[in-house]
Amino acid sequence: MKKAKDILNPVNLTRMVVALAILLTLIAIFLVVTRRAPALDSRRASDTCTSVVVVASGDTLSKLLLEQGLTHNDVDAIAKTLKKDAGISTLRADSDKIEFTRQTDNAPVSKIVVIPSPWKQVELTCDEAGAWNCKTVDIERDTRAVYRAGEILDGDSFYLAGNRAGIPAGILADVYDLLAFEMDFERDVRAGQKFWVVYEENFSDGKKIDNGRVLAVSFDALRGNVKMYRYRKSDGTTGYYDADGNGAIKSLKRTPINNAKVTSSFSNKRKHPVLGYTRAHKGVDFRASTGTPIPAAGAGRVIARGYNRGHGNYIKLRHNGSYETLYAHLSRFVKNVKVGTNVRQGQTIGYVGSTGMSTGPHLHYEIIKDGKHVNPMTVKLPAISNLDKKEKKNFTEYRKLMDDAIEELKKNQNLFIQL
Ligand SMILES: [Zn+2]
Repeated sequence: MKKAKDILNPVNLTRMVVALAILLTLIAIFLVVTRRAPALDSRRASDTCTSVVVVASGDTLSKLLLEQGLTHNDVDAIAKTLKKDAGISTLRADSDKIEFTRQTDNAPVSKIVVIPSPWKQVELTCDEAGAWNCKTVDIERDTRAVYRAGEILDGDSFYLAGNRAGIPAGILADVYDLLAFEMDFERDVRAGQKFWVVYEENFSDGKKIDNGRVLAVSFDALRGNVKMYRYRKSDGTTGYYDADGNGAIKSLKRTPINNAKVTSSFSNKRKHPVLGYTRAHKGVDFRASTGTPIPAAGAGRVIARGYNRGHGNYIKLRHNGSYETLYAHLSRFVKNVKVGTNVRQGQTIGYVGSTGMSTGPHLHYEIIKDGKHVNPMTVKLPAISNLDKKEKKNFTEYRKLMDDAIEELKKNQNLFIQL
């Protein structure tokens, strides 16, 4: 009796489902996947007439609809239902497409399909009473997880090595964002270090359409191996965790600007380049060209924005808990980011410059904890999301299965995990 109850226990059930899913996934690696019939073709009966319009710059919905012979009343009705039922109020040039279907060549348009993304289409049909109805259809995607591995060569940057490994630029930027929570790219990266990334590729009708998310990443940094896994908790939220299940996304970033060189480190004593005498450097300087956007190191609220002789244009944020960050020597601010504005992690708050006491364009970045300056490169930062005991156990099981799958991909990088 106890056993039967155990099996039906939701935790065990979830675990079994996860294990089964991964097992199937592993099997799928070795299978040739049969392509699905394209979603669009089923709508094209041979006796109807369909034309496709790619939205060009200057096109408006009403212009395109009127060109197809629809009346002003129809245009108004279509615009209303598109906005209300599909959230579409504007068209994007060069990316949105519209299909018009007629029963015969000369018949009025009876069906309109708006395609605002490769994964979504909005179908509008005219009923017998002449009213337009709207239905949103998600296009099924075939998602595969692929594995790419690389190595840092002499004089290399992580970006160059990642490119060489065939990792697409967008994925590489995401990986950089993730690793930056744990690594100092200035000091932790050396020739000979190896890394790998597992990420999603989305296919439709056998054709690759775009890349998805980073599922796992590993980097053999100088301070030790950094590994992160994307994991979905039982409440449906996802996050990145290290191999032990600790939250990998920290409330603050050590290096707000990706790939920027550290030109001056935090120290309690240094000779000031402008003043000439020895003075503590309470932050870290990152070299970047004037105008480079400065992202907020963490979510928070702007508590100061102004100018002083030393910092030039500066902005200061207060984050959750006891942290504040300061950004100095800005060339300019972002218009809508003022004192009192709440900002997201990564949101642009200003632009690099050389205002105040500065010898050239750079970002001077400070982290203040409980009113005291700390070294951004070494301070232990709190994680945004941690796993409770039960989730940690589930995560560990997921991670082990994922590691097994990655081992298979390592042996043959032409394989992929069917998700
Ligand atoms: Zn500085």
